[in-house]
Amino acid sequence: MVRVRFAPSPTGYLHLGGARTALFNYLFAKSHGGKHILRIEDTDRERSTPEAVEAIMQGMAWLNIKYDEGPFFQSERNSIYQDYARKLLELGVAYRCTCTAQRLDQVRQEQTARSEKPQYDKLHRPKDPTPQPTELPSGQDAEPFVIRLRVPDVGEAVFNDLIIGEIRTAYKEIDDFIIIRSDGSPTYNFTVVVDDIEMQITHVIRGMDHISNTPKQMVIYQAFGVKIPDFAHVPMILGPDKQKLSKRHGATSVIEYKKDGYLADAFVNYLARLGWSHGDQEVFTRAELEKYFSLDHVGKSPAVFDQVKLLWVNSEHIKKLELSQLVSELVDFLPERGLRKPNQAELPAFSALVATLRERAKSLIEMADQCKFFLEDQVIYDEQAVKKHLTPEAKSLLQEIQVILTNLKDFDDKTIETACKALVEQKGLKLVQIAQPLRVALTGTAVSPPIFTVMSVLEKERTISRIKSCAI
Ligand code: GLU
Repeated sequence: MVRVRFAPSPTGYLHLGGARTALFNYLFAKSHGGKHILRIEDTDRERSTPEAVEAIMQGMAWLNIKYDEGPFFQSERNSIYQDYARKLLELGVAYRCTCTAQRLDQVRQEQTARSEKPQYDKLHRPKDPTPQPTELPSGQDAEPFVIRLRVPDVGEAVFNDLIIGEIRTAYKEIDDFIIIRSDGSPTYNFTVVVDDIEMQITHVIRGMDHISNTPKQMVIYQAFGVKIPDFAHVPMILGPDKQKLSKRHGATSVIEYKKDGYLADAFVNYLARLGWSHGDQEVFTRAELEKYFSLDHVGKSPAVFDQVKLLWVNSEHIKKLELSQLVSELVDFLPERGLRKPNQAELPAFSALVATLRERAKSLIEMADQCKFFLEDQVIYDEQAVKKHLTPEAKSLLQEIQVILTNLKDFDDKTIETACKALVEQKGLKLVQIAQPLRVALTGTAVSPPIFTVMSVLEKERTISRIKSCAI
C-alpha cells in the first residue's frame, strides 16, 4: 500500500513549489490507490504561525488537494520523538555529548586552519556502540548536553532517487549530528524520519532543496534497522529569468491565483505540468491527472514558470467546464470584483451570458467584468465612448430601434438580430453604426459581449429603458 505525505513547515503561505509538492503526493497516492497524509512540521516555534497553517490549509482546500489522514502537528508529538531517541541510546547508536559551543567553535577553527572539513571531533563518542544511559536533555541540566547520532565511519549512504537517479554519499562526509538539542527539542532531520517511520511512509516526494538531507536521514533509518522509503526529489521551479521562483516573479501564494480568476482545476493542471508530462497532452481533467500521474515522467531538469501558458490552460478549462459549474464558479467569484450575485430569476439569462463569454475569456476576472452591465442596475457610462458613439444621429437611430424592439413579440438573440439587420438594410447603414451606439447605451462602454446577446439577456424591459434614456 502506497503511503505518501505532504509535510509543509508553516512559516508562510502555500507557494507554488509547495502546492506542486502537495499535488504530486496527492496524485501519486491517487494513481496508486494509496493514502495521502498531511503533516505540519511546526517544530520551529519562532517561525511557525497559526496563520501560516491556515494559509496552507486554505490553499490546499482551494486546489482540492485532499488528504486521507492528518493534519498531524509535529509540535504535539514530542513524546514520540523522545521515545525514539531513547531507543537509539539503548541501541548504542546515539550518545550524549556535553561539548560547549565554545569548545565546538574552537575545534572548528583548528580544523579550518588545517584546511580540514569542519566536523564534530567525536570527543564524547563511546568507543563501541554499547547501550547508553537513556536520559534526555531537559533544558535544566546541571551540565547541559545534547544527543548525537553515531554515524558509521566507513561505507556510504546510497539511494536510487526515483527522479534523479543514484546518489552516493560517503559516511565520512556526514557529521555525528545532533538529534536532540540541549533544551530537549528534537532536530528537523530526526522528526522527519521518526514521523515517516511512524506513519509508514513508502515514498518521500519532496522538493530538490531537501536532497542534501536524505543521506543523514538514511543513517537514522539504518540506526533503527527499518526499511528505508523510496525518495523522489522534484526539481525546482524557476522564474522566466531562470532564477529560482520567488516573490519577484509576481504572485507566489496560490490564493493570489484564485483572486486573479484562475479555476482551481486549471491551476492544478498547470502545476502538474510543471515537471511532469504525459505525451504531448497539455489539458487534463482532474480525473485524468489522478489516473495518469507517475514519477517516471517527472523530468530531471527544473521547470520554468510561464504565466502566458497558465492563462491559456485556464481559458481551455473555462471553455470545457460544464456550464452550470462554470456559472457557479463565476457567481462565487463576483464579489471579488465588487459585483453582486445574480438572483434566482436572473440565473437563466446569466447562464446564457456566461455561455457566450466563455468562448473568449481567459479568466474569471475578464468574465466578471463583462457581466457588469447585467448585474449593475445603473449603467456607468464611459465618457469617451458616449462622446464618440452617442452622436445626435446615433441618438435618433436609437429612438427608431426602440420602437422596433418594443414591437417584437419574442426577445431572443435571433429575433433581435433579424429586426436590427432589417433596419440597417433599409437605411443603407453598416451594422456597426447601430451596434456601437447600442453598446454604449446598454453597457456604458464601447466594448461588450455580442450586442444581440446583451439585449436578450437584459430582456426587453431593461433593454428598452436603457435605450430610452440615451435616445432623443
Ligand atoms: N518541512 C519541509 C518543508 O516544508 C519538508 C520536509 C520533507 O518533505 O521531508 O520544506
